[in-house]
Amino acid sequence: MLRLDLPLSFESCTTYCLTVDTKKLYTTPFEMERRKTATLKEKLADHYQKRDFTVKPSIASQVGMCFFGFMTISLLIESLSILIPTLYKDDDTSRRICELLVFFTLFEMVGNWYFTYNDVKNHVRKTSKDTHFPNSIDTPPGWKTCPICQMDAPPRSHHCVLCGKCILKRDHHCFFTGSCVGLHNQRTFVVFCVYLIWGNLFALFLQLTYLNDAMPIFSSNALDYVIFVALWRLFTGAMSIGLFIILAHAYLCAFCLGAGVFFLCWQTVIIINGQTSYEAWKRISAYQSSTLENVRSVFGPLKYSWLLLLSPVPVQLPHDGLRWHIIKNNKGY
Ligand SMILES: [Zn+2]
Ligand SMILES: [Zn+2]
Repeated sequence: MLRLDLPLSFESCTTYCLTVDTKKLYTTPFEMERRKTATLKEKLADHYQKRDFTVKPSIASQVGMCFFGFMTISLLIESLSILIPTLYKDDDTSRRICELLVFFTLFEMVGNWYFTYNDVKNHVRKTSKDTHFPNSIDTPPGWKTCPICQMDAPPRSHHCVLCGKCILKRDHHCFFTGSCVGLHNQRTFVVFCVYLIWGNLFALFLQLTYLNDAMPIFSSNALDYVIFVALWRLFTGAMSIGLFIILAHAYLCAFCLGAGVFFLCWQTVIIINGQTSYEAWKRISAYQSSTLENVRSVFGPLKYSWLLLLSPVPVQLPHDGLRWHIIKNNKGY
């Protein structure tokens, strides 16, 4: 279909398409014709012009999610096909127990990851205000108008630039799950951290035991555990690629373990204090209650809390995220 807004002459049309309308290259019959006769160099130049090199904020989340997927799959393969069969080749019972632990950890970690990732219930909707304040035309007291979403958002909610949404009782954006941790998924995020720590501790135990058998750590081989020394020995042929991969994997597990411990400790502190990360940072304590109530507002009825460690079951929370009572006479927002 011909574009009616093109310049009349062929030369000016070509110039127009190449210099101005670079994102819509080859959309006109003239450009289609030109592409047929273009050299490879010209095609590459056009492709370079068309590329959008702007880094999108969502890419950081995608990288985090891919890293989680890579670690989960690679650890599963490594532990079931190399570490456990080698370490427990003469002990069937221990091997079965280890395999069961691997599958249990995998189920819990991926299950809680999914329920943290699936954060749809955390999104503030246009209907949120109308449902609770049907007769109110103005922004209700304590609510604010999000300048990006252009809608009224309840107290404790914040806009996430990565999710592009206002999140109920927003805590932080998690790159491992690619979603915001807020009112409805903070519980599964905490349990996810617990299994992240347990899974990586278990993996490190298997990896270090395997490596210690091949190159005893309390010997002249101790320096081989330093990744740069290991890399050098790999290049000189003094270390096998298999041992190097397991050692590098152990470093990644140590990183994940550190991240899990950091987030679990941080979450424990703010949950006990009845705050979000933002409120702790800004020293806002308007919504703090007793320790038990603070914990209940995240984990629901404590009667079934033990179930949380066994299965990421949904529970009814005492708050809907839209109405918050200011408990302490402090600065709210
Ligand atoms: Zn917003
Ligand atoms: Zn977010």
